[in-house]
Amino acid sequence: MKKKISIAIDGYSSCGKSTLAKAVAKELNYIYVDTGAMYRAMTLHAIKRGYVTPEGLNEEALINDLDNVYITFQYNPVSFKSETCLNGTVVEKEIRQMQVSKHVSPVSTVKEVRAKLVKLQKRLSENKGVVMDGRDIGTVVIPDADLKVFMVATPEVRIQRRYDELISKGVAVSKEEIKQNITERDHIDSNRETDPLRQAADSVVLDNSDLSLDEQFEFITKKAQELISNGEQISELQ
Ligand code: C5P
Repeated sequence: MKKKISIAIDGYSSCGKSTLAKAVAKELNYIYVDTGAMYRAMTLHAIKRGYVTPEGLNEEALINDLDNVYITFQYNPVSFKSETCLNGTVVEKEIRQMQVSKHVSPVSTVKEVRAKLVKLQKRLSENKGVVMDGRDIGTVVIPDADLKVFMVATPEVRIQRRYDELISKGVAVSKEEIKQNITERDHIDSNRETDPLRQAADSVVLDNSDLSLDEQFEFITKKAQELISNGEQISELQ
């Protein structure tokens, strides 16, 4: 049987992590886990329940309600895509709205929220054969991942990519709004107390500012295939 590995992809907002992670998972026939979608679903829940107020996030109310939040992924046989569900309802479209993007980083600072989602993510990665992207995958969720990638890109490239993505999904948004949101999220994500965004010491950096998706894909799949075949040779020797 082919050796399975786990791949952790971390980086700043809108570096193209999920597009690449999805393509790599498809190629290797691995599961893809979008951890950002989980934090977004949690944020949607907080908004719907009224825990996000003009004065800020009511952390206590959200923490007290955590046992009532079920986040799952469901395969859609029509679109061939995995969709995020919140308490049994598909929320894939809602979680990409700017309203959610605006509040997701403060929600993600809550220690109890992270504990719940990290536990779930660890469970999803325990059998390997997984490509997971986020902010703390290589440092916290899968610290022993076989391949860790830290993605970076210039702010201009990231803003343009996010803008194109949202416009293609029919979300009305301006580049200025995106710039503000990305800057704010990166700042909160990098400076929060619990599991901040950090480059894992044993990760490889992938600056994709000037790379096509094909080039990025080749960079990662080549490394992954090397690790997979190395593992097979070692087990043959044993
Ligand atoms: O990846 P995406 O941009 O959808 O993530 C949305 C937000 O979720 C991030 O800005 C961050 O606040 C939070 N997040 C996190 N840890 C992860 C993944 C996402 O805190 N592993």
